[in-house]
Amino acid sequence: MIDKILLCGHNITVQNMEHVGESTIANSDYAKAIISMEAGLPCDVYYCTLIHEVIHLLMNMDGMRDAHNERDVCALANGIFQFIKDNPTVMNNILSARGTE
Ligand SMILES: [Zn+2]
Repeated sequence: MIDKILLCGHNITVQNMEHVGESTIANSDYAKAIISMEAGLPCDVYYCTLIHEVIHLLMNMDGMRDAHNERDVCALANGIFQFIKDNPTVMNNILSARGTE
């Protein structure tokens, strides 16, 4: 499990909790720089949900708090997660990229 991430220069704490809420498995508190994640999720669900919360925080950082909805965030999170899963070579190349391709 992840306990912290760096997001656009902001240190974000990831709290892994027994129970996040009644109708959610995660949420984000932009003001406190905290993502709360329900512990014990299957790995794919955990990381897809983490991406989902990161998108929420990014949109808040970029002043888009009122311009997005849950459906948009879900579509982006699922798409990005699957892209990463389907293209590990691209991810590895991004992480090791230097100079020109
Ligand atoms: Zn959401």
